[in-house]
Amino acid sequence: MKELLSGYHALVCGASRGIGRATAHALATQGASVTLLARDAEKLARLECELPRLGSAQHHSLTADLDRTDTLPAQLDALRHPVHILVNNSGGPPGGPLLEATPEQFRRAFERLLIAAHLLTQAVVPDMRAAGYGRIINVISTSVREPIPGLGVSNTIRAACAGWAKTLARELAPHGVTINNILPGFTATARLASLFSARAADSGQPAAEVETVARAGVPAGRFAQAEEIAAAIAFLAAPTAAYITGVSLPVDGGRLHGI
Ligand code: NAD
Repeated sequence: MKELLSGYHALVCGASRGIGRATAHALATQGASVTLLARDAEKLARLECELPRLGSAQHHSLTADLDRTDTLPAQLDALRHPVHILVNNSGGPPGGPLLEATPEQFRRAFERLLIAAHLLTQAVVPDMRAAGYGRIINVISTSVREPIPGLGVSNTIRAACAGWAKTLARELAPHGVTINNILPGFTATARLASLFSARAADSGQPAAEVETVARAGVPAGRFAQAEEIAAAIAFLAAPTAAYITGVSLPVDGGRLHGI
């Protein structure tokens, strides 16, 4: 049987763990060739071997630091095949009271989350246009709908990312290229664990209590698994999602209150 993503090549950023790693698996399971991008070459090489390899799919790794947007374009020259699916994903900024955030924290988050996504997009769109097929999926946050207390730098920069993506959606739609945002709710990854520990340290509450309070705010009564976020990304990556562009899709177990 021909899988939905056979013949397509996906570049998955932040692929060494968490949502990025689960996404690489989900896309490979649908038959895609996957290039894994993150900073740790050894880890990527191991993950590359673990990915399912369907049909003629071939997987690769690209070691790059998305904070180094000065060197990123040159590193992208190493991409061996045209990219049809780009997943913009990386580490979220640290939390803390917004009033105490430094200009450097804003600059770093802007570089990593917006400028890097923009450079990656610029690098892959010419081939997507030539192929008449492109799927750009940005992993951002529910904070674009409801800012999250204690994550002020992230709230600020994620909103910029959403504006960037919405503008591009109109520019790219005539070329068969869609761009959408996934807004993960609380997802059981290393990122969530570190946010809860930081919140516990700031508030003096035990980490388990912080976690219980967070879980209580999720109507589904649990945190997401990274694979559940990846499934939504794989859906948007497929040919069947051709008419969906410019949307921000929450995958949050019902946590957002807004319509
Ligand atoms: P994670 O920290 O577990 O994984 C992040 C991945 O990005 C890792 O592979 C890491 O190596 C890579 N990465 C980080 N900085 C990088 C850099 N400078 N260059 C290259 N790679 C880099 O995070 P996660 O939980 O999988 O979340 C992924 C994204 O989704 C983050 O932006 C996060 O803020 C956002 N998000 C997560 C949650 C959650 O509950 N986990 C909720 C909402 C939004």
